Amino acid sequence: MTTSSPDWAKLIRDVADFPRPGILFKDITPLLADGHDFTAAVEAMAQPWRGAGLQAVLGIESRGFILGAALAHVLGVGFVPLRKPGKLPGRLLTQDYELEYGSDRIEVHADAVPPGARVLLVDDVLATGGTLLAALSLARQLQAVVAGAAVLVELPGLGGRGRWPAAVPLVATLDY
Ligand code: AMP
Repeated sequence: MTTSSPDWAKLIRDVADFPRPGILFKDITPLLADGHDFTAAVEAMAQPWRGAGLQAVLGIESRGFILGAALAHVLGVGFVPLRKPGKLPGRLLTQDYELEYGSDRIEVHADAVPPGARVLLVDDVLATGGTLLAALSLARQLQAVVAGAAVLVELPGLGGRGRWPAAVPLVATLDY
């Protein structure tokens, strides 16, 4: 963690070897459970995007729902869930992406935002970047204008930022 980390950062718990051996899992549940510090973290995430002319936050299932809905609330904009397969009932746009082992898919309602809407992508952790890139593809399929992406935690050692297009702002509130 950087030396200038805010007080609330200590409530993000490191869990070794979860969900698989070799992964150091960033558990945000202690932060979510603390009203004062959760509020401070959401405020810190929201700050760069005030005045960005957003119309919606697109949150990635599932921890991106928690942070994304809170951000949408404080920014006064709508929230759109980017969901795992089989959860949304309407007409869908889908995006497949590669994981370290295997692949996954996220989906969004095809009419979730009007074409040209300015949106912010939100997730909890940026690791290799595959998940956030899949969200970017979905936003582009929606013909949204992606104002940027916000993550609470970036794990810079895993190279996600290097895969992310330089022209799209990507703001991490904490990096380790
Ligand atoms: P990636 O696609 O590799 O950038 O992984 C990001 C997604 O996986 C996010 O939705 C995170 O919730 C989850 N994730 C990946 N690595 C971790 C980690 N070390 N701790 C917590 N969540 C993680």
